[in-house]
Amino acid sequence: MNHSLKPWNTFGIDRNAHRIVCAENTQQLLNAWQEAVQKQQPVLILGEGSNVLFLEDFSGTVIINRIKGIDVHEDPTAWLVHVGAGENWHNLVQYTLENGMPGLENLALIPGCAGSSPIQNIGAYGVELQRVCDYVDCVELSSGKSQRLSALACRFGYRDSIFKHEYQDRFVITAVGLRIAKSWQPVLTYGDLTRLDPATVTPQQVFETVCQMRTSKLPDPKVSGNAGSFFKNPVITAQQASALLAAFPNAPHYPQADGSVKLAAGWLIDQCQLKGMAIGGAAIHHLQALVIVNTGQAVSSDVVELARHVRRRVGEKFNVWLEPEVRFIGQNGEVNAVEVIA
Ligand code: NAP
Repeated sequence: MNHSLKPWNTFGIDRNAHRIVCAENTQQLLNAWQEAVQKQQPVLILGEGSNVLFLEDFSGTVIINRIKGIDVHEDPTAWLVHVGAGENWHNLVQYTLENGMPGLENLALIPGCAGSSPIQNIGAYGVELQRVCDYVDCVELSSGKSQRLSALACRFGYRDSIFKHEYQDRFVITAVGLRIAKSWQPVLTYGDLTRLDPATVTPQQVFETVCQMRTSKLPDPKVSGNAGSFFKNPVITAQQASALLAAFPNAPHYPQADGSVKLAAGWLIDQCQLKGMAIGGAAIHHLQALVIVNTGQAVSSDVVELARHVRRRVGEKFNVWLEPEVRFIGQNGEVNAVEVIA
């Protein structure tokens, strides 16, 4: 149990695993999985570890998915981009842009691998992966059988997909297929993007604006360890929303197609005056309340205690109970993050 996981999680939490294996192809990945199962050890498959919090040492094998490759085909209306799961997401965004296939620019600078992008249907600045996802290739670990899931079969939702439910643990994603429409349509509904002129804006300008917004507000995990948004934006019923808005008329709120209302978790946390608050080496980021940072020497219990405090303060003030977006990993695998901080 002496292989440090610190380089393999963007939070920079120093926990150990029995074994860490980098897999460059499906066969290596399956071999590592089978070896661990024979030894009755748990297995965790990671991309860049940008959305996990290790609570304890992991008593098994961590497999790092490094299946690479980008292949591009086209049909009359779209670019068809097949991406190995281990490709870095932001590099893919840059590659498509540099090669005249715009469409991913709103998703610039999201940390992590292409193969992790469908798991939580990554989204930013009005665009979600599901807008461009054509299919996801995965392999059933126990049988080694490949499967191609259409975007519909992936059951994408808000930061959600089948890979967080029925397909969790049993399947590994090996590649993602994107269908990027040749008729580019800018999405300019968020933040500084709303100031750009839809008639003249270029994909590069959208990309630069997104990068500028992100770098001005979000901590770089290479400088301060973090796992992006720590909490999900809560989605509440219309009835709950009207009660909340009666008490807090300024609360940002975004009605959803199904009648529910999305709130901005960062705003709720900020209203509790929690920006900058620290417990041990974990702190609420001073510019973006939705992010918990590792100020250097954070241990997992610092992060958990801070998250628990945030959930309680926001719950007491707004009667809205935040849930982590970050996935919590215990010694045998993922655990229920809400239960840990409740
Ligand atoms: P922001 O602009 O401060 O807005 C706060 C929240 O309000 C956002 O999370 C967003 O929800 C929602 N929002 C803002 N404008 C909206 C609009 N025009 N229509 C619908 N919803 C709107 O957000 P931010 O924290 O700087 O993040 C900007 C974008 O990057 C967001 O889309 C955010 O989700 C994404 N992001 C994701 C992560 C992550 O780790 N998952 C980390 C950083 C940023 P949505 O989240 O639903 O978009």
